Amino acid sequence: MKKLSPQNLIKDFSASVGKFKKSYIRQEVGRVVFSGDGVVRIEGLQHCKYGELLEIDGCHRAIAFNIEENIIGAIVLGEPEAVSNGSLCHATGEIVTVPVGNELLGRVVDPLGNPLDGLKAVKASAHRPIESPAPQIIDRSKVNQPLQTGIMAIDSMIPIGKGQRELILGDRHTGKTSLAIDTILNQKGKDVICVYVSIGQKAASISSIMHLLMEQGAMEYTTIVCSTASDSAPIQYIAPYAGCAIAEEFMYKGKDVLIVYDDLTKHAIAYRAMSLLLKRPSGREAYPGDVFYIHSRLLERTAKLNKELGSGSMTALPILETISNNLSLIPTNVISITDGQIFLETELFNAGVRPAINVGLSVSRVGSSAQIKAMKKVSGKLRLDLSQYRELAIFAQFGSDLDDYTKKILDYGVRTIEMLKQPVHSPLDVAKQVCLLYVTTKGMLVDIEVHRLSTFKKEFLHYLDSSHAEILQTINSQGDLDFEASLKLDEAVKRFLEFYFEK
Ligand code: ATP
Ligand code: MG
Repeated sequence: MKKLSPQNLIKDFSASVGKFKKSYIRQEVGRVVFSGDGVVRIEGLQHCKYGELLEIDGCHRAIAFNIEENIIGAIVLGEPEAVSNGSLCHATGEIVTVPVGNELLGRVVDPLGNPLDGLKAVKASAHRPIESPAPQIIDRSKVNQPLQTGIMAIDSMIPIGKGQRELILGDRHTGKTSLAIDTILNQKGKDVICVYVSIGQKAASISSIMHLLMEQGAMEYTTIVCSTASDSAPIQYIAPYAGCAIAEEFMYKGKDVLIVYDDLTKHAIAYRAMSLLLKRPSGREAYPGDVFYIHSRLLERTAKLNKELGSGSMTALPILETISNNLSLIPTNVISITDGQIFLETELFNAGVRPAINVGLSVSRVGSSAQIKAMKKVSGKLRLDLSQYRELAIFAQFGSDLDDYTKKILDYGVRTIEMLKQPVHSPLDVAKQVCLLYVTTKGMLVDIEVHRLSTFKKEFLHYLDSSHAEILQTINSQGDLDFEASLKLDEAVKRFLEFYFEK
């Protein structure tokens, strides 16, 4: 046997180095010099790039976030406490990816693609980087197809098109999440894939959303990307980008996708926490100077692609929470990025106007060109009528002597508002919305007391379903309410009202 001496050991070592010399790759190794609150500082990685994925001790992952002269600031994905000072670290040359594809439908995953629904790991056929450039202008086509939300007030006055970004904003508890979830429910059978991204929500709320989607059969076409309030700031920060990557894969495959970011206020707060820990200079409201960019680069990835790229689309509904209806830094930023906003108000919500949409402050900058003809016909004057009503209603509070014209407008307005109310999680088919708006805008409801309108609505829809399904079919197939169909609808309404008043 060979003697175990230092000389022999050195000989063996040089022989083995000789053997592996050709395949030996030189790699930079850094060392963690500070670790705390999900943030690490690393020395020795001279060639690391911004946004690069780093591996710490071979098992933890981090993203390079601050590139300074001799030190890298990085955010740790996963358990931040697991990384300690002195840990070794190397740059992988890649950026974070998530599993994408059909395997994700019906699943609840974290922003790294790990399952949270108690089922097996996602066996995805492909992965996609969470950050990717937005489609160029030349890659895009016009937004000209409607994305029906099923909510009458939105589809009639603030219509959303496929490929549009429409912000939902309002104070706490004003029905923001409900609007987005109802829109997901309404996509059933419409060949639209949905991605719901939760950022910093309570785990209990996400669980109830998941159960609701399952009960209504909407999970089949939906993926939930979930980061809860108890997750670290970096995980909350990457959640919308991960959700966007999942949606993007479907969009580039030619599908229509709807993505909900619930909510971007918490996303900005997570980003602020990370930036402050990394000692970046802070600006207005303690946000770092580039806070606009985190939302603009995310929302720019929303698009309607042109024919050459498969005509897929991604429609985004970002949600923001305001405080006392105040438009602070983040809402003003996101309003300027999106193509319109739906403003929800606590006063309206408490007054029983639900969904609590303030029509005067809400706009859709591109969606109206995507509305179906029938809807355009019945909703053309609605906005104007309602604003006229609101103006007169304020003056009418002061005096009792009202002329007939004012009374007529007030009677009509109050009925219109009543008809636009809609209970939660009961989206309406567009043809039914058209019929309801038709009877409203034609002034056919003036003889019905306001408090009876909600039952009237239910009974009328039931009557249409059972006795005049052909009218609904015509509207759905042609997308128009032509002269013949409107005559039929007139006749149907007349008969129904006769029967209704007889009762
Ligand atoms: P948060 O700020 O907590 O996220 P939110 O603005 O997302 O709240 P939701 O959670 O959607 O609001 O709704 C708050 C409550 O209002 C829920 O209990 C919901 O059932 C109720 N609600 C929402 N929309 C309607 C509606 N159209 N009709 C009746 N109730 C509604
Ligand atoms: Mg909510």
